[in-house]
Amino acid sequence: MNEVTLDDLPLREDLRGKSPYGAPQLDIPVRLNTNENPYPPPDALVADVTEAVREAAANLHRYPDRDAVELRRDLAAYLTTSTGVALTERNLWAANGSNEILQQILQAFGGPGRSALGFEPSYSMHPIISAGTKTDWVPTPRRPDFTLDMDKAAEIVHTRQPDVVFVTSPNNPTGGSIPLADLAGVLKAAPGIVVVDEAYAEFSSQPSAVELLAEYPAKLVVSRTMSKAFAFAGGRLGYLAAAPAVIDALQLVRLPYHLSALTQAAARAALRHADATLASVHKLAAERDRVVEALLGLGFTPVPSDANFVLFGRFADAPASWKSYVDNGVLIRDVGIEGHLRVTIGTPEENDAFLEASKEVPR
Ligand code: PMP
Repeated sequence: MNEVTLDDLPLREDLRGKSPYGAPQLDIPVRLNTNENPYPPPDALVADVTEAVREAAANLHRYPDRDAVELRRDLAAYLTTSTGVALTERNLWAANGSNEILQQILQAFGGPGRSALGFEPSYSMHPIISAGTKTDWVPTPRRPDFTLDMDKAAEIVHTRQPDVVFVTSPNNPTGGSIPLADLAGVLKAAPGIVVVDEAYAEFSSQPSAVELLAEYPAKLVVSRTMSKAFAFAGGRLGYLAAAPAVIDALQLVRLPYHLSALTQAAARAALRHADATLASVHKLAAERDRVVEALLGLGFTPVPSDANFVLFGRFADAPASWKSYVDNGVLIRDVGIEGHLRVTIGTPEENDAFLEASKEVPR
């Protein structure tokens, strides 16, 4: 076959020259770069998922439940228990990772002629999914210490009138959370949808924005994932909580049967073991605090984190220091913030390896 390149293809002009999202997937002993839970699922969960998938496999000649009702009911029960807010399956929607959830939100509420605003640095997929859906991206800076001035945020939202606002809490890659009282200002100012991206909520000391749903039913969408605390990144299951009308809107853009029968069965089985999986959250939070203390002891400047990762500096040349970590067998993340790198909290042994390497790397 003749070799063709991107330049030979009739690609959309606005996608030319763009790079795909991608953390390097390197085969390195200590991998602390994608904010996963370092603990593999417990044996009982693996057995339960295996059995559930076996049962689902017997019906693979049929399409799955298009509305994933039973899974949404289980997710509603989990969120009701963990937030104290009574939710039903009508408040829940699920997709292949919260990235697909965010994409569906932008397909329904963003799009050509519309805009989405986010407070940077934040999760880099927000602008990428905006670009993919032809939604104008409105980057808005955080303070130099990466905290968010919520009065100013509300003012900018009021001035710019974006159709979608992203607030990530805890924020990836900087780690801080937004108190609910501070969110209210942005919710009041926003003319459209406010997505609170709570991918790391289980690690946070702040209550969930789910508590504000009753007050802002036509604006608020809370996005969640099983990829982080739930140790289910490979299973690809993200979800959201919102008013039922928001879910009606997403049904207009979702692909039919987007969630496979295998995914639905596996996620339901994993949810039955939530208590066992989430037991690791406390361990990881304690390890995070230990790593922060140790980094301080080594003369680094870690950014206060409410999640399972820590952004820290300063490095004269962060990409060079990142490479040095790799050479020392530790894969962390260069998120493109000058002078800083981000480390995911791993097992105590992995964190020790990271801290050892931290003594060696150039600053
Ligand atoms: N939101 C944030 C803030 C994230 O950090 C991530 C994963 N890095 C996601 C959403 C997407 O995760 P997933 O698609 O695995 O649910």
